[in-house]
Amino acid sequence: MQIPQIPNLILYAIPFFVATVIIEGIVIYKKNPTNYNLKDTLASLSMGIGNLLINMISKILVVLVVTFLYENFRLITIPFVWWAWLLVLIADDFCYYWFHRISHESRFFWASHIVHHSSQKYNLSTALRQTWTGGFFSFIFYLVLPIIGFHPLMIFTQMSISLLYQYWIHTELIHKMPHWFEAIFNTPSHHRVHHGSNPLYLDRNHAGIFIIWDKLFGTFQEELEEEKVVYGLTSNIKTYNPIVIAFHEWILIFQDAFRSKTSFIKKLSYFIKPPGWKHNGTGMLSNDLRKEWLLKNRKL
Ligand SMILES: [Zn+2]
Ligand SMILES: [Zn+2]
Repeated sequence: MQIPQIPNLILYAIPFFVATVIIEGIVIYKKNPTNYNLKDTLASLSMGIGNLLINMISKILVVLVVTFLYENFRLITIPFVWWAWLLVLIADDFCYYWFHRISHESRFFWASHIVHHSSQKYNLSTALRQTWTGGFFSFIFYLVLPIIGFHPLMIFTQMSISLLYQYWIHTELIHKMPHWFEAIFNTPSHHRVHHGSNPLYLDRNHAGIFIIWDKLFGTFQEELEEEKVVYGLTSNIKTYNPIVIAFHEWILIFQDAFRSKTSFIKKLSYFIKPPGWKHNGTGMLSNDLRKEWLLKNRKL
């Protein structure tokens, strides 16, 4: 099989990331200085740089596992042809949806993904606010791809394309895209909802490239004019320290698990159940918060 030469797209995109973060920052600051926070941007950038460095190590493990599965267990051999790129785009985006959804619905995965949601601002730098720990296990959601028969290089290239696509949607400067585009693709409007801490917006719009998955699996929420997005977490961490941003939720899970006077299974459940779950039944999950809000606002 002919294997093409494909460069690391993310490394090539770094100068573009830096330039657009600066330009957008100037535009936001000129419009409304209170809407810009340099410390927040620097915290996001340090999370992005840390992610790149740590991924150099985790990538070794990921490449080994994906290549091993492809070499030994692939069902068919998919060549590097145009329709294969189309298929891998759809298959990877499907895997991404479930990876992202479970990253919100299971606290073990949330502990690494929370980093991306920890800013109370929403701009291009927020896209670069990435986990330092997820690289070691998030790839498990994609293992079906090498088993189907997609070449590892094709999979990693598509994962980079997905990441690049998701960069531009982290902005408030674009209100809505054309109607047909909003219907099919993930957009700044859809993803603003995803970053919202408003009860109505919690755990909605997990899509990567195609918003269709959320509509299909019942997690879609339109951005409403009357419900302005409040960015961040339901309880914000109020720090710009990258180490705290990277690890705070891990510490909280272990504290919850070890300090609770309950059975081993319930202690373990702190890692598996959704964020907000408590062993004594007093916890509020995002679904409870949304239902409560809908009832209060007479929308149920
Ligand atoms: Zn998310
Ligand atoms: Zn995001």
